[in-house]
Formats: sequence, C-alpha cells, structure tokens
Amino acid sequence: MMTELHAQGRTISDIEECLKTAPLHPEMIRAVKFAAESGCDLHIVSDANTVFIQTILEAYKLSTYFKKVHTNPAHLDDFGVLRILPYHSSDMEPHGCLLCPPNMCKGSIVDKIRMEELASSEFCTIYIGDGSGDYCPSLRLTDEDHVFARTEL
Ligand SMILES: [Zn+2]
Repeated sequence: MMTELHAQGRTISDIEECLKTAPLHPEMIRAVKFAAESGCDLHIVSDANTVFIQTILEAYKLSTYFKKVHTNPAHLDDFGVLRILPYHSSDMEPHGCLLCPPNMCKGSIVDKIRMEELASSEFCTIYIGDGSGDYCPSLRLTDEDHVFARTEL
C-alpha cells in the first residue's frame, strides 16, 4: 500500500499530515495522562508501525507518557517509500499463535511485558483494545487484570 501511495505521488509528509488529523477522543488523552501521572507503566501494543504511532503521539504530545511502543518497525527507503517490516521478523522463532497474523502476536508481547513487570508487588494489567487482534492478549490475562474492549453503541 505504501508503494502504491508513493507511485501516486504521496510523500511521507502527506502521510504524516493525514495521521495528525486522526481523531483521538479527548477523554482518551485525559485517561493516558491520568494513568501515567498515577504511576502506571503504559505500553502501546499495535499492529500499526513505528512511523504512524510516533507521528500521532507527537501530534498529541503524548510520547513521554508511554514506557514503550511495541509495533512493526518502519523506515523510509532510498526512494522515500515507507517500508513496514513484521514485528516478528523472519530471523526470530515464529510466534506459533493460531489466533494472530504471522507478523505479530499481541498476546506474546503482553506476556513478555507482564514477565518484566512481575517484580512489582502491586501489579495488574489494564488492557485496552478495539480489534480482533486484541482477543489473543485478552486471553492471557488473569482475574486480577482488566480488559476494556470497545463496543458498538
Ligand atoms: Zn496471539
């Protein structure tokens, strides 16, 4: 898709300007700031890519609120085409999850984050998701954790 956009004369600046107009609900911005300022470690686990997410976080001045972004790496090639690589690259073991696409298993990422955070005695996961890719990580949580899933009204 990025190659096609480039062939149509769209630049990375065009893409970034479009991303900056992506609506982010004001209450979500408030919730992110409140959670971070309350001592929560916030992670983004997304099947988008580093360029898209960083552009949106910077547009809303939210970059500093997140401990880490887990997403597909992206870069511009020599021709200015945005190249997006799989999070689970070919030099890694396949994630082996039948629920997720080959490039990313959000459940395995959430497992890794949770293992790193287990040292904290007051630890629970609050998972916010709105797509089918969020089902797998939701299954990895316990009774101590919380899932906020978007519903259609
Ligand atoms: Zn999975």
